[in-house]
Amino acid sequence: MYRELYRDLWMALVIAAVGGLSAAIVGLPLVGVAAGLGLVAVLLFIKLARLHLWLARGRRPPIPELGGLWDEVIREIHKQDRDSARHKEHLTGLFDRLQAAASVMPDAMVVLARHDAIEWANPPAERLLGLRIERDTGARIVHLIRDPAFGAYLAAGDYHEPLILKGPVEPMAVTLQIIPFGANEKLVMARDITHVKRLEDMRQHFVADVSHELRTPLTVLHGFLETFADLFEGQDSEVRSSIALMREQVERMRRLVDDLLALSRLETTPARAHDEIVDMSALLKGLADIATVLGADRGHRIEIESCGADLVGNVEELRSAFTNLVQNAVRHTPPGGSIRLTWRMDSGEGRFAVADSGEGIAERHIPFLTQRFYRVDSDRSRASGGTGLGLAIVAKVLLRHDARLVVESTLGRGSTFTCVFPSSRLKLHPALSPPAV
Ligand code: ADP
Repeated sequence: MYRELYRDLWMALVIAAVGGLSAAIVGLPLVGVAAGLGLVAVLLFIKLARLHLWLARGRRPPIPELGGLWDEVIREIHKQDRDSARHKEHLTGLFDRLQAAASVMPDAMVVLARHDAIEWANPPAERLLGLRIERDTGARIVHLIRDPAFGAYLAAGDYHEPLILKGPVEPMAVTLQIIPFGANEKLVMARDITHVKRLEDMRQHFVADVSHELRTPLTVLHGFLETFADLFEGQDSEVRSSIALMREQVERMRRLVDDLLALSRLETTPARAHDEIVDMSALLKGLADIATVLGADRGHRIEIESCGADLVGNVEELRSAFTNLVQNAVRHTPPGGSIRLTWRMDSGEGRFAVADSGEGIAERHIPFLTQRFYRVDSDRSRASGGTGLGLAIVAKVLLRHDARLVVESTLGRGSTFTCVFPSSRLKLHPALSPPAV
């Protein structure tokens, strides 16, 4: 390339020198040099204009033959064109292969551009989300997936948990997750879970039906055992102790059936559309009375502290969840220990806590406590009357109240179970409410 540059420079100098020399004959060498350089500039301008014309016409043949350094420039442009065409071909091939792979995937994939407009979708998106790819490309997805839960999920911006939706045809169910990427884009993934949902529904109904069916025979057994206990009052101690053991076991089964039914009700019935205002200081007093009665033989110190706000929710469900926490505290706190019930506001959230000075829980157990039938010490839990379902019920009730459970515990020192409610679930007493503007 430098060779061409020098050649062009030499050519310009030669033209200028020839111009200068020929003009020197008539005694005007500078005019001659200037005329020579002017000629060079005109030639350069003509070549530049031809190059521009060729570029403006999309670099189509014929390629202008400009000579010297200009040919080098054209060759370089050509080379870059070829490289970029090869790169484009490679990317197109990659994109085609990705599209082919996405089309044979069983899951739906939708790419959303700015304003959540559909940019691309694979064929399963038609079956799982009811989209029509050709018709719907460019349309905003909220106008096509009309379930309000989807609109709320998309707007909330918290996509850690998947959303379960009804499919476009009954009884299809899909689980959907959004993955944000790039500046303002999102990837929507949806999977068919009809089969899993059907099995889960069957499990829930089976448990509910069995529990329901067990209730009547258990009530009959319980009644007869009461009668037998009265009949054998003051008689043979072996028979009496057998009857006492039977009553205890029937009582345990009744509690288990009641807890199973409560859990399946929470799983199968929709949350109430209209909640009520729950008087928290009255509820706390009632819970303190329950703690006193349950631990009557243990001499626990029971304390309560309540702030000036109430909860918005289902009073029966909340009472049942809080009672489970209180029962656990009583069961797992040795005689003379303390149990403290508090209802506080903290950073705009409502916190109901049951703190005990009992045996505590090792950290490794804490993540599993809300699983059904999970027990830290099975024998001890059964002996103390636990069903292993208490915290599962608590977790389900909190979920229906947009709340979460926080467990803090130290072995040998005690535990604190805190139910954290969002501000949307709080009803401030007039004295605490911010003044109306
Ligand atoms: P259970 O009916 O057995 O008490 P839960 O679901 O209520 O079942 O509790 C699960 C397990 O968590 C219990 O078996 C117990 O080991 C542990 N646990 C619950 N609350 C407490 C507490 N306050 N102190 C110590 N351990 C607790």
